Amino acid sequence: MQVRHKAKKSLGQNFLQDDNIARKIVDSLKISEKDSVIEIGPGQGALTKHILEAGPKKLMLIEMDRNLAPALEKEYPAAEVIQQDALKFIWEDLDPEKNWKIIGNLPYNVASKLMWDIAAKSPAVNCVFMVQHEVGLRITADQGSKKYGGISAWIKSYCETQYLFKVPPTVFKPKPKVDSAVIKFYSLPNNEKPSDPEGLAGLIKYCFQYRRKQLGKILKSFVSDSLLQWMEEEGISLKDRPEALSPVQFQGLYNCIKNDFPS
Ligand code: SAM
Repeated sequence: MQVRHKAKKSLGQNFLQDDNIARKIVDSLKISEKDSVIEIGPGQGALTKHILEAGPKKLMLIEMDRNLAPALEKEYPAAEVIQQDALKFIWEDLDPEKNWKIIGNLPYNVASKLMWDIAAKSPAVNCVFMVQHEVGLRITADQGSKKYGGISAWIKSYCETQYLFKVPPTVFKPKPKVDSAVIKFYSLPNNEKPSDPEGLAGLIKYCFQYRRKQLGKILKSFVSDSLLQWMEEEGISLKDRPEALSPVQFQGLYNCIKNDFPS
């Protein structure tokens, strides 16, 4: 059974109607009984029932809608329902010992911001998200590709990302105007994650603000002998554009210029 309460249109939700696709999305998270799972925006519970069937140790549902949250609580008493804006959830408070996995058919208007925060702040080992197709391509793009941008470099500083499959508009109600994609995150070991997240985020945003410009122009106030030496060692030219830098190279670049880069 699915929760049937009407949600306000202003939240822009498209509810998944195809049970096979719902199962396929949940299966790709590979939930076991030692996992604690968070579902973001469960809505009418299309994914929720499959998550519970997989038998996680714990399931938390973060649903902002005032009507849907109590209906989910009634329908799925085994889950803990939190009626809250997921953007305000404190991801770093999750106990890293609990093997967290995060899943959601994300509300498209907040998906990028949510994934930016979750990748960097949550201790989740894996995440599976359904997002707008274009966003899925960007997050899974490699450096050098046209789709590779600030969000790709940032999320890939914390996780390996994988494009899983495309989902057509016809399986939602109401029908969105665009395709969707299901993507997966695999957290990197902590010792490979950035040591100064705030500084790195600032540098990535700064560089991609000028994505069509050459690094020589973008970094002209920060050029030093040590920066030039580092670029040579990495095979990066001042004529390259930001998309040429891998996530690890953004960390290297930040280390070279951090004393001069405004934090
Ligand atoms: N998971 C369901 C499905 O696949 O049918 C619903 C997906 S719908 C795209 C997004 C859901 O997220 C809606 O239920 C909406 O109420 C909820 N939502 C929207 N913004 C939210 C936010 N900032 N925090 C938590 N939930 C949110």
